[in-house]
Amino acid sequence: PETDMSDLAIASRAVLKPIAHIAEAAGIPQEALEPYGRYKAKIDPQHLLPRGVKAGKVVLVSGISPTPAGEGKSTVSVGLGDALAATGTKTMIALREPSLGPIFGMKGGATGGGYAQVLPMDEINMHFTGDFHAITSANNLLMALLDNHLHQGNALGIDPRRISFKRVLDMNDRALRNIVIGLGGPSEGIPRETGFEITVASEVMAVFCLATGLSDLRARLGRMTIAYTYDKRPVTVDDLGAAGAMTMLLKEAIKPNLVQTIAGTPALIHGGPFANIAHGCNSAIATNTARSLADVVVTEAGFGADLGAEKFMDIKARFAGCAPSAVVLVATVRALKMHGGVAKDSLSAQNLDAVRLGMANLARHAANIRKFGVEPVIAVNRFTTDTPEELAEITSWAAEAGIECAVADVWGRGGAGATELAQAVLRTIDAPNDFAPLYELERPTEEKILTIVREIYGGDGVEYSPGAKRMLQQIRDNGWDDLPVCMAKTQYSFSDDPALLGAPQGFMVQVRELIPKTGAGFIVAITGAIMTMPGLPKVPAAMHMDVDEQGRAVGLS
Ligand code: ADP
Repeated sequence: PETDMSDLAIASRAVLKPIAHIAEAAGIPQEALEPYGRYKAKIDPQHLLPRGVKAGKVVLVSGISPTPAGEGKSTVSVGLGDALAATGTKTMIALREPSLGPIFGMKGGATGGGYAQVLPMDEINMHFTGDFHAITSANNLLMALLDNHLHQGNALGIDPRRISFKRVLDMNDRALRNIVIGLGGPSEGIPRETGFEITVASEVMAVFCLATGLSDLRARLGRMTIAYTYDKRPVTVDDLGAAGAMTMLLKEAIKPNLVQTIAGTPALIHGGPFANIAHGCNSAIATNTARSLADVVVTEAGFGADLGAEKFMDIKARFAGCAPSAVVLVATVRALKMHGGVAKDSLSAQNLDAVRLGMANLARHAANIRKFGVEPVIAVNRFTTDTPEELAEITSWAAEAGIECAVADVWGRGGAGATELAQAVLRTIDAPNDFAPLYELERPTEEKILTIVREIYGGDGVEYSPGAKRMLQQIRDNGWDDLPVCMAKTQYSFSDDPALLGAPQGFMVQVRELIPKTGAGFIVAITGAIMTMPGLPKVPAAMHMDVDEQGRAVGLS
């Protein structure tokens, strides 16, 4: 295959099968299939045939701490899925829906790359089946009802200065971080300071991704704490009476979306919280739907394993019962060199010392995975600039450490580039494992945070802002102490300082704010300078995008 083509060029040359064929091969009956155009469909889990107790095994794809050099977790997830399917294993892929923020900001699309992509890539990247629009609308309906409640006399006694929810938009738009609404006089609402968050950081998105069905969705939405009264009692969505209408707005969106890879492997793409400011994995409904259809489900958790994988295990797997049987850690020679101190513009030159140094990052992530009782499998995502000596540094270290490891070239060769990786994964999921979350829910919130900081990040301790300390007390007083913690931390470092690469030690983590997400069922701990509404870079990726005369997308990679 040619590898000098863009992801979009490769995607547009692929021959897609009608989605009904993909569904049939995946064992999805016609009654469950709701086509959205020719190549996308929603699946109604209520119409799937029960498969008894035999649920598919979960392979979680995560990675080393991300660097600007790129790791390729989605690309490896798709290529690994194709490689597993090629062995005759009944396989399904379960991924997140891309957010428009990163697409037009720095990252570009999130549908894999090269010959390991899910299709139709431009449609999945933009609008797709409208799920994010539905989630945005449900959140903003809630906010309209809340501001109307204030305007109509505020029977609940909500303190307008203590409203913890914001309106959302699926865009990177720093100008909306802090705004004042309700200006213009008595008939224009109650003036108050607020702001926007990106849709993928919202609690509605988290609830959507953790709900096990429509009634659980409604119950979770109703439990969300949206504000506090003048006497500081929590106000929930149920107090406002908004859960029914919000659920109605989400009733179609909650059905998982079926698409295909270039090789025709079925993939469910559904839900998409960020992993640095939210919990970072696709919907529980999609993962469990995939498990009811396939023997092996390849799913991805965003950013490094300190964020995505930790939250997958401590939050999603705990609630949704989808514990992984193996965790694939994606690493690249280029990214390891960056962790070893090499600058981005010098990555093409061979540098064995830097690879060796940077491997400390990979080694800590691998050791962390074992703390959950699950075995890691290292996938070295091969780039054309990698030298055999550099690749051997990683594979021989892994062999010595007794960790399964394979070099994969799924970007250049699709599933054929991951046969060795697929075998390593099959061996690992066949072996017994002993999954357990890192901490018990009964422990106090501070102890849970400290356990994550010490065991996963390698830090010494935690420092709380005065506001966070006050919230710890409120968490105890309101009986929220048995919720898991969802850390909001930079993805670039094990610490809360994005500049500390490799495997830093001897640092403290600063918790600035604690936000109870009582619908999602976790406490968000905001560390460092994490923002829930990202901004655009100096030259946004959007500057290179267009459509050609046939109406096809250009510049979406
Ligand atoms: P992640 O999921 O880790 O954020 P992606 O899988 O989305 O990363 O990949 C990011 C970008 O890097 C994509 O544009 C993809 O085409 C590119 N990419 C991934 N793997 C390779 C590779 N082995 N060689 C070249 N480019 C790659």
